[in-house]
Amino acid sequence: MKAAVMYGVGQPLVIEDVAVDEPRAGEVLVKTSASGVCHSDLHFMEGSYPTATPIVLGHESAGIVEKVGDGVKNVKAGDRVVIAFVGSCGFCDNCVQGKPNLCDNTAELGRGDRLKLNGNAMAQFANMSAFAEYQLVSANACVHVPADVPMEVAALVGCSVMTGVGAVTNTARIPVGSTVAVVGAGGVGLNIIQGAVLAGASRIIAIDLLENKLAAAREFGATDVIDASKEDAIVKVMGMTGGGVDFAFEAIGLAKTAEQCFAMIKRGGKAVIVGMVPVAATVNVPGVGFLMEKGIIGSFYGSTRQTHDMPWLMELYRQKRLKIDELITRRYPLTQINEAYAALKNGEVNRSVIAF
Ligand SMILES: [Zn+2]
Ligand SMILES: [Zn+2]
Repeated sequence: MKAAVMYGVGQPLVIEDVAVDEPRAGEVLVKTSASGVCHSDLHFMEGSYPTATPIVLGHESAGIVEKVGDGVKNVKAGDRVVIAFVGSCGFCDNCVQGKPNLCDNTAELGRGDRLKLNGNAMAQFANMSAFAEYQLVSANACVHVPADVPMEVAALVGCSVMTGVGAVTNTARIPVGSTVAVVGAGGVGLNIIQGAVLAGASRIIAIDLLENKLAAAREFGATDVIDASKEDAIVKVMGMTGGGVDFAFEAIGLAKTAEQCFAMIKRGGKAVIVGMVPVAATVNVPGVGFLMEKGIIGSFYGSTRQTHDMPWLMELYRQKRLKIDELITRRYPLTQINEAYAALKNGEVNRSVIAF
């Protein structure tokens, strides 16, 4: 199959012929239909997160089941599926507690040698490697896609929509009437905004450095926008809300913006860190904030319970209560994946999709 291979940090991806293994027990081979171009892959390409190389990145995708391994009961050949990038085991303590996104056993899925490049085993990314024509995934990661939901829409449900909406509804569980700030209005930030709308937030303040992002934020439901290239976001939020928001969501992945989120919440407020803060970074917050019952929490993958949440999100899309078509700004073939990442880096797009 054709796959986009990352050979090293800072290098362009190269389209290569990669061999993919047959599905074993509990595994599914999926023919990729669409893969989203997510910022998280960029963290690995740029080296702020470590990875073994060579590797095939990509973790936001949907496709058609090609083959299933022994014992797979939830899907069969020909089914349309969105793939969750954590293939949860279903029996560890976190899975049983309803937190499959924090499954303790994902490392033991053991697919470190099932893709081969020139006969040599290479690692799979996020138990998926979605920038490829086929993906070998866990059956547990597969969620059915309704016939009238386009595959590119389902793909985005697999990461950005789930991560953003879920941060609000699952991780933070904001009460109706909460005031919300969202720092970063990219693919995930726009979904945090729509999550806040769904959850009945009163005021939703979007903060970004780019005018086109702030315009998109308004389209997705932001009630106010702040151009942080022109004004101090913290001072502005404090003024607008009379002392801070109930919840501030970080959707960029920087220590500095995580600290800003803590600074713009009110007494009893919570900063929710959704972006991937670099592995080597430390987030510093003033300890006195804890006397004000200010909190800071992480959110991974919108605290997804994939087989419950992804059908819910696709149903909201079908009812036009969730904007997903509007997230997709551009489509690229796999051969132009480096152009797609360049557009993401330049802030030109909400989301691009690799169409197979
Ligand atoms: Zn992603
Ligand atoms: Zn588990």
